[in-house]
Amino acid sequence: MIKRKKQLLLVAHCVLNQNAVIRDWERAQGGFNQLVQAMLAENLGIIQLPCPEFTFSGEGRPPRTKDEYNTPAYRTLCRRLAQPVVEQAKEYQRQGYIVRGLVGIGESPSCDTLGNRGIFMEELLAMMSEARVELKTFDVPEDYLEGHGEKALLEFDCFIK
Ligand code: SF4
Repeated sequence: MIKRKKQLLLVAHCVLNQNAVIRDWERAQGGFNQLVQAMLAENLGIIQLPCPEFTFSGEGRPPRTKDEYNTPAYRTLCRRLAQPVVEQAKEYQRQGYIVRGLVGIGESPSCDTLGNRGIFMEELLAMMSEARVELKTFDVPEDYLEGHGEKALLEFDCFIK
């Protein structure tokens, strides 16, 4: 009988779906296949976060800075999108699962987790912290390009192992 590993990762939406990014900014035809394959090889469950910018402004949105996104309306939307994710993470944790971490997107005004933290991640991580779900994070570097990201792949392997 197969037994589930009970380990999960939260992943920024566009890691799995580059169709959501700003037009002509995609870095893969579909998703970041090599990163996804690495997660699957470790038998990690993948929880795909919603894309806050797509939800707020649609597929044809212009590029915006963090300051331009830093409005009460956008923060409210980000909290609304984050809430069900926090509930899921809490429930998994309560049931003995391990939420191994969060994969963000470096330099994104919404989804960077490490540098100049994006607004969605600010809200999500604050809500996770309130819910006592502590997450280590990894950001896909800004210069990552599917098929040409060997250094990032090695770092990602260390992150998920
Ligand atoms: S808002 Fe986040 S999930 Fe959406 S395209 Fe930008 S980095 Fe990806």
